Amino acid sequence: MPDLSQRHTFGIASRCRVLHEFCSVQQLLDLYPRETPCYIMGEGSNTIFTEDYDGQVLVNKIAGVEVCHEPGGVSLRVGAGENWHTLVAYTVEQGWGGLENLALIPGSVGAAPIQNIGAYGLEAGERIREVEVVDVATGRQFSLTQSECRFGYRDSIFKRAEAQSWVVTYVHFWLAEDIAPVTAYAELAALDNPTPVDIFNKVIDVRQQKLPDPAVLGNAGSFFKNPTITTTQYNELKKTHPAIPGFVVSDQQVKVPAAWFIDRAGFKGQCKDGVCCYHRQPLVLVNQHHATGQALLAMARAIQHKVVQLFSVTLSPEVRLLGKQGRVEL
Ligand code: NAP
Repeated sequence: MPDLSQRHTFGIASRCRVLHEFCSVQQLLDLYPRETPCYIMGEGSNTIFTEDYDGQVLVNKIAGVEVCHEPGGVSLRVGAGENWHTLVAYTVEQGWGGLENLALIPGSVGAAPIQNIGAYGLEAGERIREVEVVDVATGRQFSLTQSECRFGYRDSIFKRAEAQSWVVTYVHFWLAEDIAPVTAYAELAALDNPTPVDIFNKVIDVRQQKLPDPAVLGNAGSFFKNPTITTTQYNELKKTHPAIPGFVVSDQQVKVPAAWFIDRAGFKGQCKDGVCCYHRQPLVLVNQHHATGQALLAMARAIQHKVVQLFSVTLSPEVRLLGKQGRVEL
């Protein structure tokens, strides 16, 4: 049975029945599904296999970067199996601004539109012009425009039920020459008239200080989403916790860092059965020592339970948790 421990960055020891890599749409259609259940993935930086997967795993390795210079900017068509950070580094090296805030996010290019990855004030969806997909249930290949992707906060059409059998094959980016640098976040605000390279280097610096390198310490980045709560609930919490941070999302909604809740609930730096709540960023759970899926789920559930108990806020996982037959909920 193929080993999955190196196929997901959290690194839980797990296996599947069959595993294939595919490098083209045709190869994917030929392989799908030889076994059920079937799970299609990229670099496994947002997927955690909590136990052996009793099915087929298909790994997206569609490669290639096509560049087209157009009036006002450059467009790129990138294979979904390319590494995200390598793409960002390449664009910055070429002198094309636009993706630099998203440096060092682990994962593949194909995962970027699904999750609408975002960091330091920028979301990938803002730079995506088009996404090519194949519906593996029917073999139909089609493209979605930026607005058809319905990008939201770590959200897109690709997470909806209608897209369950869609696989992202290519992502098109548009990097305009006149893109203004995005420097609203505190970590970048101090930079004086920064170039894309300055922002790229600063983001790498901050991330390396705060976040564990999955190649060294197994993790899947942010385990939970940052919750958005109502302004009324936020104001109530502020009465008892005056230091609670919050970022206004709309008239009625405030986004609160999940890390703040987890820290206040006492989990920061805590370890149990090989799983730790990372001491520098409690939003990240790490595989400190041969963690099992049960130990990870137990830690995540304990955090969720305590945060509800203390603050009446439910933290939802940002990661995809997989069990024997497919998705598992916390
Ligand atoms: P952080 O910078 O400490 O931020 C924590 C929370 O505060 C996030 O919800 C962030 O919103 C929000 N925030 C901070 N400054 C803000 C501002 N000026 N305006 C509006 N909201 C603000 O978080 P971190 O964990 O160290 O991560 C750094 C960045 O990488 C964050 O942007 C985070 O979202 C991002 N990240 C993304 C992923 C992913 O896409 N899967 C994974 C890990 C980290 P936002 O979440 O909207 O930025």
